[in-house]
Amino acid sequence: MNTIQELLEGYKKKATQPSTVAGDFLDRIESTNPKFNAYLEVLKEKVIARAKELDGCAGQMENLPLYGIPIAIKDNILVKGWSATAGSKILEGYRSPYTATTVERLEAAGAIVIGKTNCDEFAMGSSNESSAYGVVKNPWDETRVPGGSSGGSAAAVAANLCLGALGTDTGGSIRQPASLCGIVGMKPSYGRVSRFGVVAYASSLDQVGPFGNCVWDNARLLEVMAGFDPRDATTSQSTVGSYTGRLNSKTLNATTIGVARDWLEGVDPEVLKSFEAALATMKAAGAKIVDVAIPHARYGLSTYYILAPSEASSNLARYDGVHYGHRAKGVDSVESLYSRSRGEGFGKEVKLRIMLGTYALSAGYFDAFYTRANQVRALLKKDFEDGFQKCDTIAVPTSPCTAFRIGEKVDDPITMYLSDVFTLPVNLAGLPGISIPCGLDDKKLPIGLQLIGRSYDEASLFSIAHQFEKLRGHFPRAGAK
Ligand code: GLN
Repeated sequence: MNTIQELLEGYKKKATQPSTVAGDFLDRIESTNPKFNAYLEVLKEKVIARAKELDGCAGQMENLPLYGIPIAIKDNILVKGWSATAGSKILEGYRSPYTATTVERLEAAGAIVIGKTNCDEFAMGSSNESSAYGVVKNPWDETRVPGGSSGGSAAAVAANLCLGALGTDTGGSIRQPASLCGIVGMKPSYGRVSRFGVVAYASSLDQVGPFGNCVWDNARLLEVMAGFDPRDATTSQSTVGSYTGRLNSKTLNATTIGVARDWLEGVDPEVLKSFEAALATMKAAGAKIVDVAIPHARYGLSTYYILAPSEASSNLARYDGVHYGHRAKGVDSVESLYSRSRGEGFGKEVKLRIMLGTYALSAGYFDAFYTRANQVRALLKKDFEDGFQKCDTIAVPTSPCTAFRIGEKVDDPITMYLSDVFTLPVNLAGLPGISIPCGLDDKKLPIGLQLIGRSYDEASLFSIAHQFEKLRGHFPRAGAK
């Protein structure tokens, strides 16, 4: 049983029970996680106890849309009693005193939290190499990165160490690793999902979203966790409804797909070939393909790298050795307590971003950088609004390249940042985006197609993605190339 949908069917037919399933996953994690380093914490006893409790709830299965489904949670999302390192040394040993709304909703629906997954430090990165707990290996090729920052969650799903996972996406951190690991990953519209209990990186961009092996699984996870939360003032009151129930609501012959040709500069030829083939497949099924212009997409990267570090520099001020996190020993003043605790606890990339952000926000530079970046952000939003006058979804590759080698881009931050050229603008505009595997390159590494949707129209986006998935047919699993 490879998907959430199949396992739910299996439970219905009484073919298995949660404790058996959880036991199988725990065994696989024990034997293969040391190779992949996808999980940072698996509290076996807790998992077993929870699964047994669910064995006794089989009668209520109908009311539990995620009954007995093992889910992995990125280690920047809080689950009471579990670790929440956010991939940083500064939060080593921290135990969450409460549970994030998203996880609370998954658990109320019958899900089993199976473990906490590795990620780039404070979700800053595109390869998982900035984690203080070591890189995650891509299950398709262990010499390569899984993408980031939610690399542990993506690798755990791809390696069959859970059936679904949560990640966070500030600039691409769900969609890019989903693409590099050959699975489906989705970033909802800004405000669709609660961030209560999520370690903040850049608050005007952060969203929580699902990973899974197919669109149906993503739709199920999102319909369970989305919606208004009184504990997060940015969540929308608009109704969620059933996403799985509407997967066939949008047929391809009633769909117009926008392609922004200018945006496609610099894409790896293999990725481009596969992207064009995906468009051709949808066209043959009746979709209309039109050109759209997103002229400010080219400024997405520079805009993001002003705004995200600025917000991060403020959000990360709380890790000072007093409020939260590691406290330096043997200090003789408050100032050295702060500077030494932060100096010892944060890694290189995080320090770089804090410095960038502090600089951009400083008096004299604020207008030139932060205000300007916000103006460009507004223009980019307008580009998408105009684009969506002409189409129902905008298609781009998720990532300009497939999984790169571990170490290949660590010394070149600009090349690393370029991994996100197709994902960052979507966060800046607050739109939903989904990555679906659409092919393999000549090295047999997965390629992802990204579909971008209208604000709050996750239902249509899932439906279009589902139609494409059906046309594409079976996609190989990692290790089964
Ligand atoms: N790779 C981008 C960054 O480093 C995006 C990360 C994310 O979405 N959390 O900031």
